Amino acid sequence: MANETVSASASSSLLNVVGQGPSPIVHLKPRVDESTLTHRHLKDGPFWQQIPAWKDIDEATFLSHLWQEKNAITTPEKLVAAVRDLASDDFIKDVEAGFAVAPMAVRISPYLLGLIDWSSPYQDPIRRQFLPVKSQLEPDHPWLTLDSLHEQGDAPVPGLTHRYPDKALFLALDTCPVYCRFCTRSYAVGTDTDAVEKVSLKATDERWEQALQYISERPEIEDVVVSGGDAYRLRADQIRVIGERLIAMKHIRRFRFATKGIAVQPMKVLTDTAWTDAVTHVVDKARKVHKEVVIHTHFNHPNEITSISQRAGNLLMERGITVRNQCVFQRGVNDDAETMITLVKKLGFINVHPYYVYIHDLVRGTEDLRTSVAAGIQVEKRVRGTTAGFNTPMFVVDAPGGGGKRDMHSHEHYNRETGISVYTAPSVKKDQYFCYFDPISSLSPAIQKDWADEKKRAQMMDAAVDQARSSTI
Ligand SMILES: *Cc1c(COP(=O)(O)O)cnc(C)c1O
Ligand code: SF4
Repeated sequence: MANETVSASASSSLLNVVGQGPSPIVHLKPRVDESTLTHRHLKDGPFWQQIPAWKDIDEATFLSHLWQEKNAITTPEKLVAAVRDLASDDFIKDVEAGFAVAPMAVRISPYLLGLIDWSSPYQDPIRRQFLPVKSQLEPDHPWLTLDSLHEQGDAPVPGLTHRYPDKALFLALDTCPVYCRFCTRSYAVGTDTDAVEKVSLKATDERWEQALQYISERPEIEDVVVSGGDAYRLRADQIRVIGERLIAMKHIRRFRFATKGIAVQPMKVLTDTAWTDAVTHVVDKARKVHKEVVIHTHFNHPNEITSISQRAGNLLMERGITVRNQCVFQRGVNDDAETMITLVKKLGFINVHPYYVYIHDLVRGTEDLRTSVAAGIQVEKRVRGTTAGFNTPMFVVDAPGGGGKRDMHSHEHYNRETGISVYTAPSVKKDQYFCYFDPISSLSPAIQKDWADEKKRAQMMDAAVDQARSSTI
């Protein structure tokens, strides 16, 4: 008792001027009202019950990965059946017409369908990414090719792209839990559509053997991206096979499983125990021999992050599995600073590291989703400084023609009027120039007319490359 009294008065006399209370702290910045920190607001409750067919589906059923697979929307007919009462006839007709010309197959998870705001489907950022509507489509850019990143040209073995000196991209399979309109790999991913016949990249023993053998014969490769398609669709035994083979290769120091699944079907992490345990097994086994195995995922909009995503993130964190995010910058989805800042902060909140934001590749049927490099520069400027540097994504252009990812700001030349930016990639393809083209609709009417003229557009491009050549340091 006596001791307590003594120590209490001793400490108060140390901290305060005798006879005065604690001096108030002067807040130099006004305190932020917690309710405005929207990145901490995670959607909770049975949001999927807004879909009439799922109004009686309880949480346990909705969280089952098997239920999610079984109820995936895989045809325009199934979509119409699910949302007929939620959307106008005009909208439904617009989507049907959009699908008829789409280069991507249809597949959307119940999780995503339930997150769309069906009171304004035209504006909804999730709808925009997965369900094409004919009335919003824009003609493809005249210089678009189906494999704009030249992945097949840089592939010594089908589905194994070796572009960068020390890393390789292994496309293990060609299916995904969802099919995104904007997929860069629409040349291979998903089933054939009316518009495109796909290159086959099936998960066959023979192709995998060739790919793994190639990696084993290249001592300079230290890093492998296991992608597709999507690692969510690899069976647990396949995850183990690939993982153990790569761990056993002396020169491999790290690899990643790339999956959009964490973003579009997070409940699988919670309920497909075999899959999650297989990934954990590979990560743990690699760690014991001092190799790093992580997951790369693909969130594009804050609405995709819910309390289910957080539970998945928590479980992966408890298992010691790092998750990084690669995002695609898309018009009407995340091309405004507020949305991008919220996304970045929300990812940080659920322990996912924002890694890259890609300027939208030149992909068929997606001109309405592309933005200019200038728009990326604007948004990046606002994002940087809002949170930890290691949680601040790098904005990149994946240079058409196979130059690889370039810091968006590192162009040798950028003509904002013609929308042509020119990049070099000295460590990837020496002495080459790579051009990226802003969407035609972002240009002035006069320049749009020049783009329609074959001769004039060739001149614009030659001029841009000449400029780049003379200014390259
Ligand atoms: C993106 C990519 C990689 C991995 O690149 P990081 O910058 O390390 O994420 C590897 N190979 C190819 C072909 C790629 O496109
Ligand atoms: S999940 Fe990835 S690979 Fe699959 S369709 Fe979407 S962007 Fe393409």
